Amino acid sequence: MTRTTPPRPLDVVSLFPELAGRARTATRLHPRPGAPTVHDSSVGGPLLWPAGEDWPVCTGTHRPYELTTLRDVRTRRRVLAQAWQRPRPPRTNLLTPDEQAVIDRISAGYDLALLPAEPQPLIPLAQLYARDVPGLPCPDGMDLLQVLWCPFDEIMDSGAEVRLRWRRSGTVTDVPADPPEPAYIGNGDYVPEPCVLHPERVVEYPAYHDLPEELAERVIARERELLASPAPDQPRYQGNLSVAPGWKVGGWAAFFTFRDPADPDELRCCGAPLEPLLTIADEWDPDSITWRPADEEGSTENNPTRVVIGRGYTLQVYRCTASSAHAPVTVMQ
Ligand SMILES: [Zn+2]
Repeated sequence: MTRTTPPRPLDVVSLFPELAGRARTATRLHPRPGAPTVHDSSVGGPLLWPAGEDWPVCTGTHRPYELTTLRDVRTRRRVLAQAWQRPRPPRTNLLTPDEQAVIDRISAGYDLALLPAEPQPLIPLAQLYARDVPGLPCPDGMDLLQVLWCPFDEIMDSGAEVRLRWRRSGTVTDVPADPPEPAYIGNGDYVPEPCVLHPERVVEYPAYHDLPEELAERVIARERELLASPAPDQPRYQGNLSVAPGWKVGGWAAFFTFRDPADPDELRCCGAPLEPLLTIADEWDPDSITWRPADEEGSTENNPTRVVIGRGYTLQVYRCTASSAHAPVTVMQ
């Protein structure tokens, strides 16, 4: 099954010819639930990890509001999915009493004192083979990127909880039968459903903060006009003509929505500029619905990975352009 982004509803370069030189290609990953193996590109799938290599752990401190477990997150999703699939007469409960008991037990969580003091294993977020993901910026000789993270709310604050590992896949022969998992996690929203990918190249234009000021002002002026006028079918730049929503590699950084744009210092590492590497977000929302794949017209499923970033924001993982050995920087925007 392919996932095909419909053509943009309007050629934005005809409106703003200066954008022509600012096109970038991004690879939308289109993650969809499946059963990926270590040999597949995936979100939330198993990693091609050498059996003899230490599994990464998180050494950061966590102050969770609640504790849950990976097993509870998976159980809850399974119970709810099964319940939604059952035919249900009007005025009957979604859940059976037994299911309700399971959900109640899971919702109660665990005593915060159970959080182990020692570093906990990270969990797989994504695995990307260069053969599947055009434009993956592999260092020389590498053909695989593995991304792990620590499923606590601190993920929103810095890059410390997100780990990148570049590999040469051909050198990995044995993988661990049972990769380690954290005993407890802070938030089920950071546990990706195992998904296979349907990568697709799309062309993007910059968010306002990446445009020259004068051009940004003209683009924003058009947005304001559209919002003020009764022309609802005119596609807006932010949602429809510029940056693709959803999980993707490369392209332009997402719009800053709930906070001020990062200043150039925030988007630097060791003096070198940062570039978007991986974007984590809902596949589309009502403002960006023109990016919903044509193959899924009418579908309301816009978050197949089940990863939720804040109130539906975007988590942008940036890489240092000077060295692939430098830690990534994450910004919620
Ligand atoms: Zn750097």
